[in-house]
Amino acid sequence: ALMITDECINCDVCEPECPNEAISQGAEVYEIDPGKCTECVGHYDTPQCREVCPVDCIPMNPDYRESKAELEKKYKRLMSAK
Ligand code: SF4
Ligand code: SF4
Repeated sequence: ALMITDECINCDVCEPECPNEAISQGAEVYEIDPGKCTECVGHYDTPQCREVCPVDCIPMNPDYRESKAELEKKYKRLMSAK
């Protein structure tokens, strides 16, 4: 999963781009729910939030390093829950 750092300027452009509805407005800055972020695996070739973020504040979440296979499994789980 990816994460949003405190460099975030709360511009809101990433939130509607997320295919998994993993992004929401937090108390200080926007937040990514690691349980829902597949790094866009299953939907797109590249993380869409990162593509649009004007300040480049969306790195890998060091607490949630997942393999492509794990991300694909998460994608399938999320899709079957819909
Ligand atoms: Fe959503 Fe993709 Fe960004 Fe993860 S990488 S938060 S799934 S847009
Ligand atoms: Fe924050 Fe970047 Fe999302 Fe804008 S696009 S709300 S700066 S994380």
